[in-house]
Amino acid sequence: MDKTILITGGAGFIGSHVVRLFVTKYPHYRIINFDALTYAGNLANLRDIQEKPNYVFIQGDLNNIKDIENVFDQYPIDGIIHLAAESHVDRSIDDPHSFLQTNILGTAYLLDMARKYWKDNLDNKRFYHISTDEVYGSLGDVGLFSETSPYNPQSPYSASKAASDHLVRSYGNTYRVPYLISNCSNNYGPNQHPEKLIPLMIKKILKEENLPIYGDGKYTRDWLYVVDHAQAIDLVFHQGRIGQSYNIGGQNEYQNIDLVKLLCQLMDEKLHRNVGSSENLIQYVRDRPGHDRRYALDITKIANELQWKPSVTFEEGLNQTIDWYLQNQTWLNHVDLLI
Ligand code: NAD
Repeated sequence: MDKTILITGGAGFIGSHVVRLFVTKYPHYRIINFDALTYAGNLANLRDIQEKPNYVFIQGDLNNIKDIENVFDQYPIDGIIHLAAESHVDRSIDDPHSFLQTNILGTAYLLDMARKYWKDNLDNKRFYHISTDEVYGSLGDVGLFSETSPYNPQSPYSASKAASDHLVRSYGNTYRVPYLISNCSNNYGPNQHPEKLIPLMIKKILKEENLPIYGDGKYTRDWLYVVDHAQAIDLVFHQGRIGQSYNIGGQNEYQNIDLVKLLCQLMDEKLHRNVGSSENLIQYVRDRPGHDRRYALDITKIANELQWKPSVTFEEGLNQTIDWYLQNQTWLNHVDLLI
């Protein structure tokens, strides 16, 4: 094998797409998927590639430094793509400490191991940390966040991700760990846990349950198809400049209420229901605290430096996503049972 790449959180939503891309595109790399299999991790996401000779799964917890050390002892790690995290904002409001533990301390343990094992030879090593646009906080009605926008996280989740970004940079500056960071907008697509907005709404429309919308529904998010994100991660990992961060966005802003109405319309058509019938399920509910109004990213840097841009339109991506959930209802129901 030419290289050994350690991907953390590979059994989760985005991680599973990254693992699949790397295992299939780079048969000469050994790809290690290190994942604790929390409620969010699901090996069924990777069933199609689990027998590939260059794929290794290791169940381990970032919070247990021995688990990480064992991987480094066993394999010569050349690169790390770090996705493992507690990732759901609402859960971070109910239980902030598990987010601080995994997202901050877990990242610190991983950095410590990279530092320890790479100390004598940093050549061609890469520690790539996957982060979120939520570290920048909330935007007004106009403007975009760039890579130099100040951090202003509003939820325990985004604060924990902001802290981990800072830690990664500090290990780069202090110990010369060769790092890359990307901050991405909201992802959607196959394998996403139904606690998140799009699969939650698909599931509820399917079951004809009420569709809860926070506040006035005018919260605005930028949406990116997860397969496009995985391709961007591949580019940044291989061609990004060490010590840099890159914003990755879909250039596709939607207010939550408009997004849910679009989902209703697409699903009514697919399920042969009267058009408009699912919209009647929409129900406004009490807002959550610390809810950011709008996020949107300037992606000029990755577009210019790495020639990346999203490849599918929102409607194409949503259609593919809905079709996947309709064809994988066993997955959807099984994931529900794991909560
Ligand atoms: P996810 O919740 O679907 O998956 C997280 C994975 O990490 C799971 O497989 C889980 O088992 C694993 N994990 C959790 N704690 C662990 C621990 N202590 N040790 C080892 N593994 C552990 O998350 P996701 O939506 O795929 O997000 C992946 C990364 O991308 C996260 O770092 C997240 O902050 C970032 N991100 C996500 C989005 C998004 O829209 N989903 C957007 C931008 C950035």
